[in-house]
Amino acid sequence: MTVKQLAETLSLWQHIEGVASATLGEGYQLPLDVLARIPIVRSRATRRLGSYVSKGTQPVCIRLQFAQEPEVLKQTFLHEVAHACDHLFSTQFCRSYRRPHGPGWQGWAQALGVATQSVGHSPSVEALHRKRQKLVAVCQHCGAKFYRVRRLSKGRRYIHQRCGGLLRPVE
Ligand SMILES: [Zn+2]
Ligand SMILES: [Zn+2]
Repeated sequence: MTVKQLAETLSLWQHIEGVASATLGEGYQLPLDVLARIPIVRSRATRRLGSYVSKGTQPVCIRLQFAQEPEVLKQTFLHEVAHACDHLFSTQFCRSYRRPHGPGWQGWAQALGVATQSVGHSPSVEALHRKRQKLVAVCQHCGAKFYRVRRLSKGRRYIHQRCGGLLRPVE
């Protein structure tokens, strides 16, 4: 799947095309075909709803967690498209691609109609995250239990900061 295909599924392509082909900055246009072809990769992450991946001047992909509610998914997708636009626009004119949520990204996010103040919030993905957490360790001193998605690294000693007790990993 590509950015264009997903955008068409979500009825957002015309909107993105309109914003991207509108003259921004000093009357330059964004390479729309490059934006359209960026691959969409399904992400299994439950702590992050999406991310934009680039290497140098090249876009690599947009990662998206598809367990999001449809409305949240649209916002997350546009948030990442704003990163892609910011990156393509900056590198096209030899500007450095700066802070991920800097003024460049904010301009694109506003034009695309994405909230720039708040981070996306998806109850479905948060529930998925809680469900994936397992009991990974118990404090030998106070008995406190620790839940995480990943097991603790083997061969490392973990100390319970609050009581100073050693954690016993649960297999
Ligand atoms: Zn972001
Ligand atoms: Zn303890």
